[in-house]
Amino acid sequence: MTRTAITDGDFYLLERQLPAESRELLLRVREYMEKTVQPVINHYWTREEFPFDLVAGMSELGIAGMGYSGYGCPGRDCLLDGMISMELARVDSSIATFFGVHSGLAMGSIYLCGSEEQKERWLPAMARLEKIGAFGLTEPDVGSGAAGGLTTTARRDGGEWVLDGQKKWIGNATFADYVVIWARSLEDGEVKGFVVEKGTPGFEAAKQKDKIALRVVQNAHITLDGVRVPEENRLQNANSFRDTAAVLRLTRAGVAWMATGCARGAYEHALAYARQRQQFGRPIAGFQLVQDLLVRMLANITSSACLCSQLAALQQENLAEDHHSALAKAFCTVRMREAVGWARELLGGNGILLENHVGRFVADAEAIYSYEGTREINTLIVGRAITGIGAFV
Ligand SMILES: Cc1cc2nc3c(=O)[nH]c(=O)nc-3n(C[C@H](O)[C@H](O)[C@H](O)COP(=O)(O)OP(=O)(O)OC[C@H]3O[C@@H](n4cnc5c(N)ncnc54)[C@H](O)[C@@H]3O)c2cc1C
Repeated sequence: MTRTAITDGDFYLLERQLPAESRELLLRVREYMEKTVQPVINHYWTREEFPFDLVAGMSELGIAGMGYSGYGCPGRDCLLDGMISMELARVDSSIATFFGVHSGLAMGSIYLCGSEEQKERWLPAMARLEKIGAFGLTEPDVGSGAAGGLTTTARRDGGEWVLDGQKKWIGNATFADYVVIWARSLEDGEVKGFVVEKGTPGFEAAKQKDKIALRVVQNAHITLDGVRVPEENRLQNANSFRDTAAVLRLTRAGVAWMATGCARGAYEHALAYARQRQQFGRPIAGFQLVQDLLVRMLANITSSACLCSQLAALQQENLAEDHHSALAKAFCTVRMREAVGWARELLGGNGILLENHVGRFVADAEAIYSYEGTREINTLIVGRAITGIGAFV
């Protein structure tokens, strides 16, 4: 079947908003994901392994730190950055998450909260994917309540800080070169960010096994036992949780794009399947109820992509606030979860076979739905903005 914007899920032709050069880059990312990642990703997903061999190819695409200017980063616009997240997730949500943690959460923390010297020191190698980043905020007993509840501490000791505590779910942390750790300062009680470099004594990252989603992503349970970090590795412009929230504002927009990509990938597999699968002597795509499933999926993807696209426009003008990203994250992940379920349904029994990919999308969607703020927490962020009343507790 000839590929068109419609069969590719770009129903309202949003990609046309990109200038030719950006479009060309997006197509290169698409080609890399479809030709290099898709054929091998189930192998890694089954084994809970990370495909280190693929990092060089991603590096060549030159997409890390896409929206940041200077420090060896591409300095392109928010729309392209978001569409690339969508494009990655369209083939595999684990690769998109690996990339989102590195380029969004870790590089974003340094870009938004680091001093000039720190950005010069860390970002260029990260933009080349020579050094990989992770972002440690969540703790075993503190997830949604991270804003006021972090228990990991940072004690100042001369020119160093001593970190103690635990972190859970930290993506890329088993192998990352730089792990941004958010901890409460015993000096002023505020949350601060520290870049812990690989091999620092007292830092241990144990792989979390047996996940049923994003199995390619290496999440770690981190123990920080008297970890000494020099003052020059404290993010100089991270002075309270408000600064952490600024990073999340950026990355939640990326997750909304990713959720849209996950739904879009599942839809495209389902559409292709519906056209070739025959029952009752005709393609199942010819049944009204099957078309209903496809159109519902398409509506979810299209509404999500349009919303993300407008959010990118707000980001570009520096008008995006926490509640804008929160609404997109909550809305797009709900729509994703519905869409991947419908795709699975459309494939019948074949929908649970890994070889048909849709089952992987269904499983991975569960993690995207919960990380970077659950639906409830992002809803409460929007609720506070529209009513003026915080309803978190
Ligand atoms: C695959 C994966 C990767 C992740 N990667 C990272 C990472 O790289 N770095 C990192 O720091 N973290 C990471 N996380 C953690 C993630 O951000 C948290 O899982 C998420 O914030 C939710 O926290 P929790 O799982 O502890 O759930 P909890 O906070 O325990 O919430 C449990 C339930 O209670 C609800 N709830 C909580 N508070 C309220 C309230 N006030 N009102 C209504 N409902 C409420 C929640 O919505 C949820 O449904 C990752 C998580 C996953 C699953």
